[in-house]
Amino acid sequence: MDYALPDWPETFWIDTHCHLYMEPFQDDLPEVLSRAQHQGVKVFVVPGIDLETSRAAIELSERYPAVFAAVGIHPNYATRWGNNSLQELRALSTHPKVVAIGEIGLDYFRDYAPPDLQKTVLKAQLELAGERNLPVILHQRNSFDDLRAILQVWGQTIGASSTSITSPRGVFHAFDGSPDDLNWATQHGFYVGLAGAITYRPHERIQPLIQPLLWDRVVLETDSPYLTPIPHRGKRNEPAYVPFIAEKISAISNIPLPTLANMTSMNAIRLFNLPSSWSLH
Ligand SMILES: [Zn+2]
Repeated sequence: MDYALPDWPETFWIDTHCHLYMEPFQDDLPEVLSRAQHQGVKVFVVPGIDLETSRAAIELSERYPAVFAAVGIHPNYATRWGNNSLQELRALSTHPKVVAIGEIGLDYFRDYAPPDLQKTVLKAQLELAGERNLPVILHQRNSFDDLRAILQVWGQTIGASSTSITSPRGVFHAFDGSPDDLNWATQHGFYVGLAGAITYRPHERIQPLIQPLLWDRVVLETDSPYLTPIPHRGKRNEPAYVPFIAEKISAISNIPLPTLANMTSMNAIRLFNLPSSWSLH
């Protein structure tokens, strides 16, 4: 099987968030990737959730040219943060296929780690992203106010060098917030990742999320193996299902699928500063 990157400007999808190192993919990852390729999903961004999985994401990126990695400690695993974590993440982040720090953030829905610890771990990783000039992949649940306050301060500290809202700061992955949250995010240089959850929602609920002004800020993702879109809800999610998410967006926005593919892939390339020469064979 050839996992070479596509030749631009061929129409293709990018799955900007999939945990391909997780146990559900252990037995059949080559088939999973080949099914994705067959559906036109040709590039994958794989974020870690702790140090071990950040290393696993990098290993996948070394094995498959079309896989890129992000390194970071997820708020649910903030208790795994140790004295050397920052140093180790910094070392991992210098790998040429690491395109972001993530996934990081705040999760007040699950109480796996105390909020204060989550904030400390988040701030340290935001600083690292600023230092390495990498975008962040953000996870948030029931925590938008605190997250916004921290990002605001962070934006000011790194703002001196890049105040332009056109320089991407990161992405709110699996975005499921309010139109207000969305405005704040896009005005502060963030992109939004739309995942399978939007296929569970009524059209009216997501209509405000897909106004034309957003088309320079939307990227697609599966969050595999989670958030499986309809019609496969309840089963394992995989990158080949990106088109189901796209079809829902297309139905609401009347934007044809090939246009949607070009827009969202261009956005992902800009967000993660992916190589545009596609010469990584
Ligand atoms: Zn995730």
